[in-house]
This record gives sequence, structure tokens and C-alpha cells, in this order.
Amino acid sequence: MEIPFFDLHYQFEQIKNEIYSVVSEIFETQRFILGKYVTRFEQDFAAYCGTKYAVAVSSGTDALLAALMAIDIKPGDEVILPDFTFFATAGVVQRLQAKPVFVDIDPLTYNINTNLIENLINEKTRAIIPVHIFGQCVNMEQLFELSEKYNIPVIEDACQAIGASYSDGRLAGNLGLMGCFSFYPTKNLGGAGDSGAITTNDDELYLKLKQMRNHGMEPRYYHHFVGGNFRMDEIQAAVLSIKLKYVNEWNNLRRINQKLYHKYFIDNGLSDLNYNSSFSENNKVIQPYTEYFQIGNPSVHSYHTFHQYCVRSEKRNELRAFLSENKIGTDVYYPVPLHQQRCFEHFNYADADFPATNRICCEILALPIFPEISELQIRHIVEKITAFYN
Ligand SMILES: *Cc1c(COP(=O)(O)O)cnc(C)c1O
Repeated sequence: MEIPFFDLHYQFEQIKNEIYSVVSEIFETQRFILGKYVTRFEQDFAAYCGTKYAVAVSSGTDALLAALMAIDIKPGDEVILPDFTFFATAGVVQRLQAKPVFVDIDPLTYNINTNLIENLINEKTRAIIPVHIFGQCVNMEQLFELSEKYNIPVIEDACQAIGASYSDGRLAGNLGLMGCFSFYPTKNLGGAGDSGAITTNDDELYLKLKQMRNHGMEPRYYHHFVGGNFRMDEIQAAVLSIKLKYVNEWNNLRRINQKLYHKYFIDNGLSDLNYNSSFSENNKVIQPYTEYFQIGNPSVHSYHTFHQYCVRSEKRNELRAFLSENKIGTDVYYPVPLHQQRCFEHFNYADADFPATNRICCEILALPIFPEISELQIRHIVEKITAFYN
């Protein structure tokens, strides 16, 4: 049995007719940038996230960059973010000549360890960027407190977390001052190319972001400040409005797939029932922690959308090679902690300050979890992993 790591063909079959009809309509209009489809998508997306506004932009990276520019991040400022995320979260900080201040992660959730943040706050700290990694919202409780206590804005990197909710019921993108999304084709809501969005409930920031994405311009050829070309095109917007109608269904299928992995890992004696985070004879494969419960109300919990399903193994590289020999696709997010990246060498971060990230980068392995993978395929994957350990 050959199982790809990811495959978009199934969902395309489901929506092919809708897509072709809207794309041909756009070609008939010959209007390609910032038209009625972008406006409609912005309304659809804000309504989905539960925010007052959404501003459509050219990518998740540009969403983060525009958000930081909108709060005037300047050279010498410091921005706090996790050591374990896609590069863009840190890249945009450095592009503004500010300093990315890396924080170690919680090995259970792979999210920023919020206990470590307060020590890193000083008079240069201008923003905190929690990243809802793999579709699981960061435990926001302490972040809300710190943000208020020190008056530092929280900008969510929600690029992997469309539809994910925090344990207070609010969706990713509606938890901070601004939420940044990517619609890169492989994200849970993916376009037909690059695009992204910023959500906010703030009237002033909304207007600023709308100008920011178009060179600080309003009206035409009058520039209030230096922005960029962060515009979204009509084809992306039209495709995204169509796919947005299905994203809850697809997210739910990913969650069902996670539950199947959980069941088969336990049935095969590979994992502990309780998402135990230490390795043992009965816990060779550590499963990702799936939800936070509301303080004092355990019936309410967060909603993980499994952009990636990442387990841990002490023999990650051997296991990955074995699965590959057995025609099962896997991937590694992320093999290198940000503090070790060459482009950040000059900050001289010490390895010893990031024990969890260092370890996770060697142990983590993403297994296929796309919505249309079958139960039979998941069982097959777990059987192969069992064969590897025997
Ligand atoms: C995908 C992603 C980005 C960047 O989005 P692009 O659309 O590729 O620019 C930023 N942060 C995280 C966590 C991501 O997963």
C-alpha cells in the first residue's frame, strides 16, 4: 500500500465545478487584483473567525510583516516568539531590524512555554507572537495577563490554525490584537497560490492595514506612510471563499483521523493512554497532546485542527527511513531550532536555554493526516510502525 504524506486531489474533485466556474468568470471580467471577490472573502473570513475585520494580503509572511509594521516595530525593538516555528515568524522581525527573542517550547504541545516569557520582557519588548503550532492554540491565559500587565500587544501567528479554538471558545485570530493567517496551498485552508490575511477587532488598525498592503496609499497616489505590495488577487479570494465553506468539515475529518491514530497506537501497545510525555517500553511513540481544558470547567476545551499530526520517537530518523521504504510519506517539522539557524548566529543564543526545542527537533515526525486518508491506511501506517519497533 502506497500512502502519500499529503494529497490535494481529493478535495479538488469535491469542488472542481465551483472553482472552474468562478475562475472563468474572473477571466471574463479581466479584473485580477483587489476587486469584489477580495472584498467578499474579507467579509466571509472575518465572519468565520468572529472578528470585526479581515484584511486580505499576499501571504502569511506578509500578514506577519504588515502586522508588525502597523504597530511600528523599529530597529532595536524586541519581539518574543517561540524557538520552534516556521522561519517566517522570526524572519519578519529581523527584516524590520528588530530582535527575535526566542523562547523554548512545552514538549507536550510543541507550543511556546508561556512560563518562560515574563523573564524575557524588558523595556525594549514591543510584541509577543504566539504561534498556534500544528493547529493547536497556545495556552493564552498567561499571555493575556502579561500583555495587560506590561502593555505589550499579542500578535497571533495563526497560519496553521484556521478554525482552531482556545478553551474560552474564541477562534484563532480573535485572541490577540491581530491574527495572521496563511493560505499557502497545503494549509488547512489553502488557495491556488500564495495568499494570507490579517484579522483584527481594532478600527484604526483595520484602516492602517488596508493602506499598508497597498504602499500606504489612500486615495490613489497619496501615500501616508511606507507600506508594501501585500495585495491579494481575485482568483485567490474566489477560491478561498469556496473552500471556506468546507473547512470545518475538513478540519473535523483531520480530528477523526487523529482519534484513529490514538486508538491504533494504544491497541498496538506503542503509546500510553494518557498522552504521557516520557518514553518507556509502553510509550515508544509519544502522541501530541490534543486539548486544553477551561480552568474550573473541564467540559469546555480547545479545538485542535491538526494541520500536522506530529508524534515523537527516539529513533525518528530510522523510523522515517523504514516508513519511506514501505512507501509511507512522512515529514519533519522542524529539524532545526530557530536559535541555531545560521542567519541568527550573531545573536549568540545558547543551546542550553532551549532543551525542549533541541530535543523535539530530533524526535518529531509528522504522519499523514490529510482529511481524506482512510481508516485502513491509518491502520496500515500504525502496523508498519509496530513492525519497526518489533
Ligand atoms: C505557513 C506559515 C507561515 C508563512 O506563510 P506563507 O503564506 O508561506 O508566507 C508563517 N508562520 C507559520 C507558523 C506558518 O506555518
